[in-house]
Amino acid sequence: MFENQRRTELHDLGEFGLIEHITSYFKNQNKESVFGIGDDAAVLDFGEKYTLVSTDHFIEGIHFDLTFHPLRHLGYKAVAAAVSDICAMNGNPLQILVNIGLSNRFSLEAVEEIYSGIQIACEKYAVDLIGGDTSSSPRGLYLSVTAIGCVDKDKVTYRKGAEANDLLVLTGDIGGAYMGLQILEREKKVFMEHPEMQPDLERHDYIVGRQLRPDARKDVIQILAEKEILPTSMIDVSDGVASEIHHLGKQSGVGFQVFENKLPIDPQTVERAIEFGLNPSIAALNGGEDYELLFTIKQGDYEKIKHHPDMTVIGHATELVGKYNLITESGNSFEIQAQGWQHFQG
Ligand code: ADP
Ligand code: MG
Repeated sequence: MFENQRRTELHDLGEFGLIEHITSYFKNQNKESVFGIGDDAAVLDFGEKYTLVSTDHFIEGIHFDLTFHPLRHLGYKAVAAAVSDICAMNGNPLQILVNIGLSNRFSLEAVEEIYSGIQIACEKYAVDLIGGDTSSSPRGLYLSVTAIGCVDKDKVTYRKGAEANDLLVLTGDIGGAYMGLQILEREKKVFMEHPEMQPDLERHDYIVGRQLRPDARKDVIQILAEKEILPTSMIDVSDGVASEIHHLGKQSGVGFQVFENKLPIDPQTVERAIEFGLNPSIAALNGGEDYELLFTIKQGDYEKIKHHPDMTVIGHATELVGKYNLITESGNSFEIQAQGWQHFQG
């Protein structure tokens, strides 16, 4: 199996390189495993419909900071993130399992807060908590949510499937969760240095909310079904639109052309990006955790979405395989780099 002789640092591979490396040695053995690794959720065939399964974990100090993340919101966010991956397959989320690891820093009341958030999300997305596992943890909080869903076999939507000239559509707006995090981290620093100062978060309510309590776009899946639109490919925005464009392009064997002036960015996101000395478009493309949906549709479906306030055509697929370009307002073309979240940095 693995035949490495020398020590290799994980940051040399990066998150996606590591996943590819470890999973390339595994082959599916069961015919029910229709599609395993490499999409937002695994696709399983147990009967009339496909079953979808996906899991996500949240580790204190890596994925969240409890100095500013309310436990209730954290529980909600963990469920939303898992449900979002089922939606990204054009699926209907049905059940979740929750694993939790708790250090002795946490009281019953704290755990109740986390589960209140989980319950609010269960009601919002109409999913059932059907199990999980509980353990102590040497340090900090660990939370993992597995989501299960289903989809009609002829409606399952993979990351692959986009063809040249398909339109690239984004729901909601992007970059807010990332700028919200920048604000929270800045206010934390101010508070640590000047505990007498109260953080001023109210005027950043939208972007801070995007970071602390994001929503999965189950509503969009319903709208697509009502409008009889079957996307040709789809992914959810967890690592950032730039990174997700690369995933769709790589798996579909197409390139993408994206127009900067079409990127849906909330004014709060734009203002804060400028304040932080960032280009708003770059912040929006690289910021993660918006949990919006990014998908491609046939040109013939354009009429069905063109007036929808929550769906924006940001570009189209091209025959230039592996070329992902951002066309600026002045007509210049830049390569879209897939930065994503850099785990395993030294
Ligand atoms: P997402 O951001 O949509 O949750 P990821 O980038 O985390 O997707 O994962 C991409 C694919 O790799 C998924 O199919 C996921 O199940 C798989 N994967 C991630 N980590 C592992 C692992 N440690 N072992 C096996 N498969 C993994
Ligand atoms: Mg995903």
